[in-house]
Amino acid sequence: MRKKIVAGNWKMNKTYEEALSLVSEIDNMLKDEASGDVTVIVTPPFPYLQSVGKLVQGNDKLHLAAQNVSEHESGAYTGEVSAAMLKSVGVEYVLVGHSERRQYHHEDAQTLYKKMKAALAQGIKPIFCCGEPLQERDADRHFEYVGQQLKDSISYLSNEEFDQVVIAYEPIWAIGTGRTASSQQAQEMHAYIREQLSRMFDAEAAFNCTILYGGSANPGNAKELFSKEDVDGGLIGGASLKSRDFTDIVKSF
Ligand code: PEP
Repeated sequence: MRKKIVAGNWKMNKTYEEALSLVSEIDNMLKDEASGDVTVIVTPPFPYLQSVGKLVQGNDKLHLAAQNVSEHESGAYTGEVSAAMLKSVGVEYVLVGHSERRQYHHEDAQTLYKKMKAALAQGIKPIFCCGEPLQERDADRHFEYVGQQLKDSISYLSNEEFDQVVIAYEPIWAIGTGRTASSQQAQEMHAYIREQLSRMFDAEAAFNCTILYGGSANPGNAKELFSKEDVDGGLIGGASLKSRDFTDIVKSF
């Protein structure tokens, strides 16, 4: 059985105190309320990783992710954070290829591949984000677009490396817009992604790969999305900033 994951991407939100309160609330709710066999991930901003890491250390339910990683190992890269640094404060997962990084920081396919390699070399699992803009969906080119994103970054990984990767399908038109993909749209894209992965690697590896949906998921639509065969959980932005909403999504399987 492949792993079910719900990951909260806090983006550039929360003060230090707010971040610690949020993770403590999530932890308490997950301990008090039955939430099934789901791996829960929080993705705070860089300055809070160490403290949040200490809070979740040894917690078999709650895990720590970073929002970004440098493609470089170390050295004169002012403002960058390496995979080894992330590893040293307890980071287990890292987002790679989020549409906001692609758009605002011009991260291209080659850079994303290098970031995944840098993370994997430290034993950190990449959560590789892909998804089409609205004009590609409207032109009925969304499968082709996402297929190309996978080909350009994921297909160069080895089989062993790919086994460590989580995919997040995030249609750009659904991120932070309140407009969610229907569960049918999510399912058909997730099935397509899995099929592409089975061609790049093998059917078993593709079957075992966790594919998350992201884009305005909330407690009201998560159950329907997660009921689909190839939807193995969610990457949650806005709704991950409130402990009640986030844990309700975790309990939606
Ligand atoms: C995201 O940014 O990864 C995301 C899914 O955001 P939201 O849930 O706010 O659409």
